[in-house]
Amino acid sequence: LRGVVAVDGPSGTGKSTTARGLAMRLDARYLDTGAMYRAATLAVLRSDVPLDVAKTTAEGNDDVVAVALGARVELSTDPAEPRVRLDGEDVDAEIRGTEVTAAVSAVSALTAVRQHLVDEQRRIVDEIVEDGGGIVVEGRDIGTVVTPDAGLKVFLTASELVRAGRRDAENTAAGRAGAADTQADLARRDRLDSSRTASPLRPAEDAVEVDTSTLDIDGVLARLQELAED
Ligand code: C5P
Repeated sequence: LRGVVAVDGPSGTGKSTTARGLAMRLDARYLDTGAMYRAATLAVLRSDVPLDVAKTTAEGNDDVVAVALGARVELSTDPAEPRVRLDGEDVDAEIRGTEVTAAVSAVSALTAVRQHLVDEQRRIVDEIVEDGGGIVVEGRDIGTVVTPDAGLKVFLTASELVRAGRRDAENTAAGRAGAADTQADLARRDRLDSSRTASPLRPAEDAVEVDTSTLDIDGVLARLQELAED
């Protein structure tokens, strides 16, 4: 692949597995932007600055913004081993846990945090594209904000029931008891992500919508590969 494939959609649509698998198939790099919001959120939770997780405003509080912006978040873009580091520490498992999942929508609603992370995402993408390479970028605002010029934009959807089932299976496989993301949690996160004023979750006008409800991962991958090679 040369250039950018943008993969957006709500949680539980198989976005991560699909985007990563597609990058492998296309011999491209892979960027999980959700991991960046999750790592910034972990930095806030680890600090002594209180975070009101029920409040998702664009302005937020200066202390929360300062901690999130001060966090050193590093990602590897190798789809075979996508690692996330926060201030040098591998936080891959911790950022998928219950606490971060419950708080991430509040931190990612902050305009200043988004601006900072979007700049960083564009820097990573530009470096790879300028080198003649390809990258599959996954998130909520990739086709609309981060790389609106992407050669292919995909918006994944799935029924709420299917999405909750997939998250449950993921959590069980990762040994997280008590399903971090129940159907109610997912619905809540999607509502917050879709209703925030800063870059709400929505498909780009020229995105191809792919409903994954009745497709398995190989089915979705085959469809996306077809689109990417078109
Ligand atoms: O994709 P993942 O579930 O890891 O994303 C975690 C959260 O990060 C989302 O619920 C959303 O609040 C935020 N996010 C975002 N924009 C992105 C990627 C993730 O706001 N591009």
